[in-house]
Amino acid sequence: MQSTATRILDGKATAKAVRTEVAERVRELRAAGVVPGLTVVLVGDDPASEVYVRNKDRAAAEAGFAVKTLKLSASTAQAELERIVDQLNADRAVHGILVQLPLPAGLRSDPVLQRLDPAKDVDGLHPANVAALWTGAPGLVPCTPAGCIEILDRHGIEIAGRRAVVIGRSILVGKPLAALLLARHATVTVAHSRSRDLPAVAREGEILVAAVGRARLVKGDWIRPGAVVLDVGINRGEDGKLCGDVDHDAAQGVAAAITPVPGGIGPMTIAMLLANTARAAARSAGLDGEGRRLSS
Ligand code: NAP
Repeated sequence: MQSTATRILDGKATAKAVRTEVAERVRELRAAGVVPGLTVVLVGDDPASEVYVRNKDRAAAEAGFAVKTLKLSASTAQAELERIVDQLNADRAVHGILVQLPLPAGLRSDPVLQRLDPAKDVDGLHPANVAALWTGAPGLVPCTPAGCIEILDRHGIEIAGRRAVVIGRSILVGKPLAALLLARHATVTVAHSRSRDLPAVAREGEILVAAVGRARLVKGDWIRPGAVVLDVGINRGEDGKLCGDVDHDAAQGVAAAITPVPGGIGPMTIAMLLANTARAAARSAGLDGEGRRLSS
């Protein structure tokens, strides 16, 4: 058994570095006459969503975005929500639209996501962006998976040629992350609730990602010694404290590196939302992120 210390991949510090770069890009865009605008649509009063949205608002305002949150009641009709999306699509001051999921019971997310202008879909969930991700075309990439790749890159962790195991197959995290890892030449396995012998599958991963939503599901002996572990899950443990999908005490000395919860993938997700919004604003103005004219 390996017993070297496990490196903590500090998502807070890494996200701060990304946000600083995005703020610089926003200054350039403002100097070119473009004020990047982000509108978050929050329907209902789910407490976790309210916390996420508050954190997104704060980070966006700090980075120089014009940020607005539309708070709608849980009784908002489907047609009304779709009409609001149409208005935001048509609003030239809005470059990024994020509809906070999950929507309250009775509202369907699919028709809402399909209605978004793909160029403003900063959560990367419109079918055109999903297709772009799998075909390698330019598009907007979902923020949490993008944050996972970014934290690996910024810590110099190699992806190409390695075995990656992603536990979870949601459209928000597991599937798009599998596409990104594949595009970066990892050999990818996607596991889920029906996978047989999950511990053995997990142990194959040189990069192991847990995106499940079950507190401390991944035990120490599920982790291949020397693996890099990304813990995407955000759960309340029995002690009432926030915890991930991985048993971090048990991972110590087994994993080579791990992202903490909180302070890991969560802050990276927000940083990538800002990066996506800056990119969408630059593209809408015919400028890329560095202020150059796009050739197409
Ligand atoms: P989700 O839509 O509920 O998907 C969960 C996935 O986990 C599903 O594919 C499910 O399999 C699988 N699963 C459930 N129980 C399992 C088990 N016992 N063994 C193996 N697989 C199992 O959740 P999500 O939206 O992807 O989010 C996953 C977690 O990440 C949640 O804790 C969420 O709060 C967190 N999250 C964090 C961030 C962040 O910024 N850090 C962002 C988004 C989500 P089936 O498909 O077979 O049902």
